[in-house]
Amino acid sequence: MSAKIIDGKAVAARICEELKAKVAELTAAGKQPGLAVVIVGDNPASRVYVNNKKKKCAELGIYSEEHALPESVTEAELLDLIDRLNRDPKIHGILVQLPLPGNLNEQLILDRISPAKDVDGFHPVNVGRMLIGLPGFLPCTPAGVMELIKETGMVLAGKECVVVGRSNIVGKPQAILLLREHGTVTICHSRTKDLGAVCRRADILVAAVGKAELITGEMVKPGAVVIDVGINRNAAGKLVGDVHFDSVSQVAGWITPVPGGVGPMTIAMLMRNTVQSAEQSR
Ligand code: NAD
Repeated sequence: MSAKIIDGKAVAARICEELKAKVAELTAAGKQPGLAVVIVGDNPASRVYVNNKKKKCAELGIYSEEHALPESVTEAELLDLIDRLNRDPKIHGILVQLPLPGNLNEQLILDRISPAKDVDGFHPVNVGRMLIGLPGFLPCTPAGVMELIKETGMVLAGKECVVVGRSNIVGKPQAILLLREHGTVTICHSRTKDLGAVCRRADILVAAVGKAELITGEMVKPGAVVIDVGINRNAAGKLVGDVHFDSVSQVAGWITPVPGGVGPMTIAMLMRNTVQSAEQSR
């Protein structure tokens, strides 16, 4: 293996340590950051994510409250809860765990969260602010990826950046953040022709597809920074990313592992946004 590992767990721990001190300061000033987490139904993966977020809040001294609602909840009830949380001064961040059950209009619900409490960075106002370079909440996973790239010391200006995946929560905002750092950005998706040829151009390759080990060694430029956002199970039931670690780590200069790469950064960025929101509410 020639690639250096970017240790997301260690970077996230460092960021959280800094946040812990800030939370203590804010709490002493009577402004303890508070996060409300809304979960609907009993999706087991969502349950794990929500528990991890609450646990991290507790570790950092952030107040958190969970609103667990049955799958039968109506859109009106959910909107009413969000209205109450928008008005609640204890709450600086509101997170609605996705996906929502199919009968609920996800966009309608997310749009109701006050942009000032939208710590996931999914509200169209915050997406728009990010696009034109105004301050606002950045979506957690792409923001975490930017921190991991920073760890390598690579200067992004003028570099070829390829993002595989164009979802609203990862791929698209990732491309915008890379562009903001002056990368030359290409977005690939399910209809891209010759994915390998495009990926091989990349100095920085971010994979956010959700297909186990799609990106293999021959698709990667020697020395590239490869960031693996994917979380999948392979045929043997093992947790793997979108990147075939064994072959890509022979070629890349830097690589993130799964688990222990992007995952811990997503939660760290959520905590950072919540603390930022509490600071701004002063
Ligand atoms: P998504 O399903 O919404 O989007 C996947 C994207 O990949 C789509 O834009 C699609 O066009 C593209 N795609 C599909 N097949 C392709 C192919 N063969 N070639 C090129 N592009 C293709 O997924 P998402 O929500 O963006 O998540 C992507 C992955 O990242 C998933 O594995 C998810 O679990 C993971 N994820 C991880 C974190 C984290 O914190 N680590 C956070 C969010 C998502």
